Amino acid sequence: TKTVYTFGGDAPHDDPRQRDKTVTGGKGANLAEMASIGLPVPPGFTITTEESVSYLNRGEAFSDKLRGDVAEALAHIERNVGKRFGDSADPLLVSVRSGARVSMPGMMDTVLNLGLNDETVEGLAATFEDARFAWDSYRRFIQMYSDVVLGLDHGAFEEALEIAKEDRGYFTDTEMSADDWREIVGEFKQIVAAERGKPFPQDVNEQLWGAIAAVFESWDAERAKVYRRLNGIPGDWGTAVNVQAMVFGNMGDTSATGVAFTRDPSTGERTYYGEWLVNAQGEDVVAGIRTPQYLTKARREAAGADLPSMEEAMPEAYEELARVFDLLENHYKDMQDIEFTVQQGTLWMLQTRNGKRTAKAALKMAVDMVGEGLIDEKTAILRVDPMALDQLLHPTLDPDAPRDELATGLPASPGAASGKIVLDADTAELWANREEDVVLVRVETSPEDIHGMHAARGILTARGGMTSHAAVVARGMGRPCVSGASGVSINLKDRTLRIGNRELKEGDVITLDGATGQIMAGRVPTIEPELAGDFGTLMEWADKHRRMGVRTNAETPEDCKTARGFGAEGIGLCRTEHMFFDASRILAVREMILADDEAGRRKALEKLLPEQRSDFAEIFRTMHGLPCTIRLLDPPLHEFMPTRDEEFAELSASLDVDVDHLKRRAGELHEFNPMLGHRGCRLGITFPEIYEMQARAIFEAACDVTAEGGEPVVPEVMIPLVATKKELEILRALVVRTAETVFEEKGAKVDYLSGTMIELPRAALMAGEIAEEARFFSFGTNDLTQTALGVSRDDAGRFLSPYVDKGIYARDPFVSLDVDGVGQLVEIAVERGRATRPDIKLGICGEHGGDPESIAFCERVGLDYVSASPYRVPIARLAAAQAAL
Ligand code: ADP
Ligand code: MG
Ligand code: MG
Repeated sequence: TKTVYTFGGDAPHDDPRQRDKTVTGGKGANLAEMASIGLPVPPGFTITTEESVSYLNRGEAFSDKLRGDVAEALAHIERNVGKRFGDSADPLLVSVRSGARVSMPGMMDTVLNLGLNDETVEGLAATFEDARFAWDSYRRFIQMYSDVVLGLDHGAFEEALEIAKEDRGYFTDTEMSADDWREIVGEFKQIVAAERGKPFPQDVNEQLWGAIAAVFESWDAERAKVYRRLNGIPGDWGTAVNVQAMVFGNMGDTSATGVAFTRDPSTGERTYYGEWLVNAQGEDVVAGIRTPQYLTKARREAAGADLPSMEEAMPEAYEELARVFDLLENHYKDMQDIEFTVQQGTLWMLQTRNGKRTAKAALKMAVDMVGEGLIDEKTAILRVDPMALDQLLHPTLDPDAPRDELATGLPASPGAASGKIVLDADTAELWANREEDVVLVRVETSPEDIHGMHAARGILTARGGMTSHAAVVARGMGRPCVSGASGVSINLKDRTLRIGNRELKEGDVITLDGATGQIMAGRVPTIEPELAGDFGTLMEWADKHRRMGVRTNAETPEDCKTARGFGAEGIGLCRTEHMFFDASRILAVREMILADDEAGRRKALEKLLPEQRSDFAEIFRTMHGLPCTIRLLDPPLHEFMPTRDEEFAELSASLDVDVDHLKRRAGELHEFNPMLGHRGCRLGITFPEIYEMQARAIFEAACDVTAEGGEPVVPEVMIPLVATKKELEILRALVVRTAETVFEEKGAKVDYLSGTMIELPRAALMAGEIAEEARFFSFGTNDLTQTALGVSRDDAGRFLSPYVDKGIYARDPFVSLDVDGVGQLVEIAVERGRATRPDIKLGICGEHGGDPESIAFCERVGLDYVSASPYRVPIARLAAAQAAL
């Protein structure tokens, strides 16, 4: 196999290995590809990534074969350029550039102008009749090589240059003459000799091999390793080295260097976008030493800039560049990010790659390119990162508006929210009912705050991480949230708070940016998301190509509407308990829990029945006959328990039972591990009247709404936390009995399904048997993850991120399904469930239903649908399409 590939000039580019990024790296593969389609690429060669790996394995030694191959490849450059490396009359200069498979900060920086020494610099000056250019190039080379290859401190060079300019009364580098630069070179060489104890290498081959070794070794540099670890890049890829003939953008006013995108990377518009500088080299454009100029006339005018655009200053080179842009897009079928240089009017291409882009731009480009016939729908679907859609679904802060920043926290749920500060959930609800925008600010949130979170525009917490209660619930509701903002301290007694170093009080207006974690004083204007147009088009294509259905997890009519607007095809999970937290009902719920006997419970349940019935009716109306999976009561009862004295007092008055008795009763109900305690179907088994009331509410509502006309309602009643067939048998019988009673009373009936959640390992294993009693399974992967891993989600905060950092779990298993472990349980249940009941309906309703990687898994095991929180529905639609392609 080849160790070196030549490109440009008369090089053959027909070996597929040369276009393989794993062999020649991203930069090398694309240089060869550009050359092969006839674009002007300075000739050069690429040393393969494999060579860097074997160099390091060999204890940092070059093989004889490599030495020979490089010499031959160098001859290719010399022949095509018509100059010789090290020739004192007319020297060839080269750049040495690193290039891994993926672009990687932390690798060696590029060295330009390699091949200059005390003799060749004179030859360069003579050839181009430009001594200033030659000496400027030489000093740049010494500076770069010393920094990058010799590892000397670059500060000394910059200081020497500053002093030289000061001595001469200059302000800018351009004032330096040939002689000035010559003197600087002398000083630079002294600095090198003093710091290194050896003179600057004059032998051009020593220079070249030194640079190649430095690129190879930079793969093992500490900062490169850190980057790899953070980005999951394997350590054995190695890096390629590109050696390429220099072209000069610093040869006067007909020369230039620049970077460009073939389309606008922030809006996606089909306009060339870029920056360039006349008479400049390499990274000058991005280095910020001089102000770069606009590429196009239109951009320059829009920005009101004085310096001419490339279109105006170099019309011919610009025309050529525009032609290359189109060729590149046609070839790569994607937006390109380009580096180029113009040497005395002639354009040279130095790099191209698929350009990074914002979510908005990705969407627009994908749709436009289908319209242009550049790509097909499937490619367009695969081009857009589903998670990036999140940015597009929420109103965002106007980027041009001023921001009075108070502090920052974690960007827990995207979107922007402005409103009056409220310090508790009840106040949030109260003020929101008065049509006021509020932002709920809490130390942290708990299930009791749900109604307040719902009422609020946004949520800010002083504590808690990205998977805290506030963060998870806020994301689920599509509320912007900033969590863990340690700069926030709340004084509930005075109803005041401090954010950063500003004193505020309840009622003051703040703005949250859930995408960045910023907290601002006052109201920052927002811009609404654009859901039609390109977004709508891409979603339509996604729907056409996906197999799985997409439902939503929703429990309020408002959430259902949002989700339907986002294209949800039904409800995969309606958590009935969330309805119980409502201020008007919690009292009845508490009466039920603390009742001494069944009669007491039934009395309380009677108060809840009409409330539940109207909740369900409203949801059924909103969903217009789409399937609705409703889960019967699941959480441990303690979540509803009164905690504060006022709450006990209120309850005691309502029940006419003394507080002590209530407190004792509450004490009796205390559980050591509620997550594994008296919850889920265990509640239905021990207190069948609760499930009976819920089932009755569901069937009555379904009959009522069906009777109103429109699409008939088909409820799917779901029993949670089942471990055995027997549990389900008992509870299904209860559901069927209740349905029949209701149908008889109403003189009408509806179709319905009853089924179960699979969220315990035993249920997954016994799925074959359980399927006898279930028309559908919904994988509750939150609990399945908790129980399979033996990790409580609420307590995982303390150790889960170190676990992920150490690679024990590749990703947070509550965010992305642990496919290897928990995934097996799902697969087993799918297989055994289908064996018993081939037409069993299978879905997923855990948080994972909105995670693209987990969705890909669901497609692989053949689930019928995924269910995601409303704002994740579009993400799920796109991810499901990608998984199906
Ligand atoms: P990076 O990977 O950091 O982008 P590059 O290898 O692309 O580094 O080099 C940075 C810049 O150096 C290029 O954008 C280009 O301006 C300049 N450069 C590299 N090689 C050459 C060359 N052969 N001739 C002229 N300029 C070059
Ligand atoms: Mg580059
Ligand atoms: Mg569960």
